[in-house]
Amino acid sequence: MDTAAIFSNCRLCPRKCGADRTAGKGFCGETNVISAARASLHKWEEPCIAYKNGAGTVFFSGCNLHCVYCQNNIISNELHGKSLSVSELADVFLRLQDSGADNIELVTPTHFVPLIINSLDKVKHRLTIPVVYNTGGYELCETIAMLDGYIDVYLPDIKYRSPDIAKNYSSAPDYFEYASRAVLAMTRQVGALQYNSEGGLVRGTVIRHLVLPSHRHDSISIMEWIAENISPENALVSIMGQYTPFVFIPDSFPELKRRVTKMEYNSVTDRAAELGLNGFSQDRSSASEDYVPDFSFQGL
Ligand code: SF4
Repeated sequence: MDTAAIFSNCRLCPRKCGADRTAGKGFCGETNVISAARASLHKWEEPCIAYKNGAGTVFFSGCNLHCVYCQNNIISNELHGKSLSVSELADVFLRLQDSGADNIELVTPTHFVPLIINSLDKVKHRLTIPVVYNTGGYELCETIAMLDGYIDVYLPDIKYRSPDIAKNYSSAPDYFEYASRAVLAMTRQVGALQYNSEGGLVRGTVIRHLVLPSHRHDSISIMEWIAENISPENALVSIMGQYTPFVFIPDSFPELKRRVTKMEYNSVTDRAAELGLNGFSQDRSSASEDYVPDFSFQGL
């Protein structure tokens, strides 16, 4: 893929900054050079994503959302990362496969999609494990279309339904408008859920949602949208309760400075069950700063 035209007027995500990333950075904070902070086996994923040795995660630096509560703040907002060429990233994929990874999991990849495609083009004939696209969900359908034939499993967030909440926490009042369309495009592209003999997902979509303190009604509204629009044959739902209030959360968001209560979390999982959604719930007891990976360029 010829990336020069794409990066000289970047419109890869709904921000549509038009940034010239050959000379500078856009809202996501990244240039036209791949930057990543860690590549390693990661066991703390859904049981169908990390089912044996762990997901082969590559954590990319930068992000198009900059959520005020982001647990990966050091790489998403502070842009901690190591530069990689397209060939070096391709080698990282092969090393992860050689180390026994259950898949290649691309974490926050949106702003590097054309370069990731070029890396996958170099090695996809040698990859025997699925490629997973783990995204915050703020995506353009056009960018998802570029990934057709490269991605086996989509792992998108749907973070917010309310424009006000999305505006306050991620400066993206149009978040749900774009995320909902993108998730529908993902499910259409990869189709029905398919598993290997060990229970690992080799095709399909897993929609993640992190329950935030004080916003359970928005979470329930997201569950209702999923039930109305996506067949359980095409997508699982992963409801996460491990929200951790980090010290850097601004004082202007006092409601985010506590954990999610049992009542809040259970009200969301109960409604998902009533709606017949299939998937996972992640125990509130896993809420801990210990679950933040060490971004010290391991595996790069
Ligand atoms: S990927 Fe980055 S530079 Fe491109 S439109 Fe999105 S935020 Fe802007």
